[in-house]
Amino acid sequence: MISLRGLVKEFPGGVRAIDDLDLEIADGEFLALLGPSGCGKTTLLRTIAGLETPTAGRVGIGGRDVTALPPGRRDVAMVFQDYALFPHMDVAANIAYPLRVKRVGRAERRARAAATADRLDLSGLLDRRPAQLSGGQQQRVALARAIACRPRAFLFDEPLSNLDARLRLTARTFLKRLQRELGVTTVFVTHDQGEALALADRVAVMSGGRLAQVGTPAEVFQRPLTTFVAAFIGATPMNLLPGRAEGGALLVAGARLTPPGPARDLPDGTPVTYGVRPEYADLSYEPREDGLPGRVGVVENMGTALLVTLEPAGGGDGPLVQVVVPEEDGEPAPGTPAWAVPRASRAL
Ligand code: ADP
Ligand code: MG
Repeated sequence: MISLRGLVKEFPGGVRAIDDLDLEIADGEFLALLGPSGCGKTTLLRTIAGLETPTAGRVGIGGRDVTALPPGRRDVAMVFQDYALFPHMDVAANIAYPLRVKRVGRAERRARAAATADRLDLSGLLDRRPAQLSGGQQQRVALARAIACRPRAFLFDEPLSNLDARLRLTARTFLKRLQRELGVTTVFVTHDQGEALALADRVAVMSGGRLAQVGTPAEVFQRPLTTFVAAFIGATPMNLLPGRAEGGALLVAGARLTPPGPARDLPDGTPVTYGVRPEYADLSYEPREDGLPGRVGVVENMGTALLVTLEPAGGGDGPLVQVVVPEEDGEPAPGTPAWAVPRASRAL
């Protein structure tokens, strides 16, 4: 269990990389820490590891306050984006290195390194140097090194981001299975929302040193608490459209829409931001009062689906609206008049 209380990290020059952050990570949980570049993810991970000293607040691991303990005494393993393997050591020595630091005896070191290598499919590579390995193999060596010392928690800082897109997916599934088997508490930093949703039990969305929302992948995807989270999560950005309440409905970009739950009883004239994911709107080629009117602009092929961008009908400067349509519905011609009809139950 990892517990962060009132955590603040200020760097010289006044940058508040972590700004009064509270977070509890359960024993065995896989938590993804997600946010844009510069929001403080690495700093938070380094603070948990003990590589940074917090300006204020406490770090607890396994029910013990470790705020004042050096990294070596926290019993956590960190895997970095660039793997940080020792170039002059072979794979076996790299995997066994933390055990050597911990003064584990030679025979046990060998046995543990070999068992870990076997589990990660590295047995045939024990004599190689990192430079003689592919990116995916180097990544597995970094994982093996973390696992071999049987830490109480894994801290991953974007460990898949140096792999190419296809390998990244394989490595992701592998990592998830491994974490399930080992049951070790894991904090996984990423700026890739797809990776976070796919891997994590819970996702902590970070922005400007604070947590914007912490929830299950389904919660942050279906029920984002802020427009920042809504815009950041999802394969395609959520449509966020300005409108206002009137007569029990919402007037948004030329459509009259059913208000989602929380917006049901707003007084007339209240300004709103209406949110609907492109996946949760349908395209109609007939006029609909509950449809956002436009003309087909760019159509992007996503394989099994098409992402259609509607431009304002009058050619004015209204918002663009995006809709995902099944590929088998066919590709609409640019300029075709169309209406984006949000599924009321999925709108925010
Ligand atoms: P992320 O990992 O989310 O990209 P970082 O934790 O690396 O973000 O950085 C958060 C903020 O703290 C950034 O504004 C960054 O410039 C600043 N920062 C990080 N490390 C240092 C440092 N050692 N000294 C000064 N500022 C730093
Ligand atoms: Mg970082």
